[in-house]
Amino acid sequence: MSETAAPVGKLTVIGAGLIGSSVVRAARQYGAAETIALADADADVLARARALSLADSYSASVADAVDGADLIILAVPVGAMANVAVAAAPGMKPGAIVSDVGSVKSSVLKAVAPHLPDGVHFIPGHPVAGTEQSGPEAGFATLFDGRWCILTPADGASETALSILSDFWSRLGSTVDIMTADHHDLVLAITSHVPHLIAYNIVGTANDLETVTRSEVIKYSAGGFRDFTRIAASDPTMWRDVFLNNKDAVLEMLGRFNEDLTALQRAIRWGDGDALFDLFSRTREIRRRIIDAGQDEAAVDFGRPHDD
Ligand code: NAP
Repeated sequence: MSETAAPVGKLTVIGAGLIGSSVVRAARQYGAAETIALADADADVLARARALSLADSYSASVADAVDGADLIILAVPVGAMANVAVAAAPGMKPGAIVSDVGSVKSSVLKAVAPHLPDGVHFIPGHPVAGTEQSGPEAGFATLFDGRWCILTPADGASETALSILSDFWSRLGSTVDIMTADHHDLVLAITSHVPHLIAYNIVGTANDLETVTRSEVIKYSAGGFRDFTRIAASDPTMWRDVFLNNKDAVLEMLGRFNEDLTALQRAIRWGDGDALFDLFSRTREIRRRIIDAGQDEAAVDFGRPHDD
């Protein structure tokens, strides 16, 4: 536990999945809250969270769980945020800070803000950290360590609430960045949403091929395919909601992607090796910069063990 005072008294996290359970674990490990309540609509998920001793209290009722909470974090799929806000609102105390971890920000702002009582401060957020797994067992306390957390306060948001929320995420090991919800959605469309769509698509295409068998696709997957399958194994509910709620930004980035793909097709057709070599050199440089920025390990082949 940290020796300085926790930035938050009572923390309530709604949604005990990968991200919610990681927030709870990290808040406890790094002393970011004095008490922690956890809520989930699914009785089985809640029972599993309780068995893991993740929080100080557990509730299937979100209104009960938020009673007396200073910070409430919604950690459910983006499409469930509005319903959760409606259910939790009657239990919120004046002055409480409400935030979320959703992967899309404009739609969450529009879906949640109208349901919150007066005197409650809503500051949407998105920790840019995760894995392809789901559920309370998948979480871990260091998930946010060294990662970015983007906060997207609306105009006129309380500076005090923003400062408390920033301190909370800093305590979990994140570096906080602040931007508008619309800008967040554009940035994440190209850095996260379109890459997931490409992975879902290539894995789906390989699965549907007739000239190459499915067992060959699995057998020879070390040629590159298996690295896409990690992303394409991500939670179907979460990702359905991301694409339905960040439609415009994803379609805009997909338009750019399709243009560039057409240029690559042309380069291959016309044997333009210089164009291919130039692009592949630039992309290799981007990988180096990601490692230099501490956003991935330098280990070869994602650190998979290889015998000498
Ligand atoms: P997850 O592991 O599937 O957890 C979501 C949890 O919310 C599940 O336990 C789910 O229960 C519960 N839930 C669904 N609807 C609910 C409701 N109406 N009331 C209360 N609980 C409800 O998903 P996750 O990966 O933690 O994602 C949670 C949020 O984090 C999403 O908004 C996602 O966009 C965002 N996020 C995810 C990642 C990532 O890499 N996964 C990264 C950053 C942000 P059921 O299992 O019964 O549905």
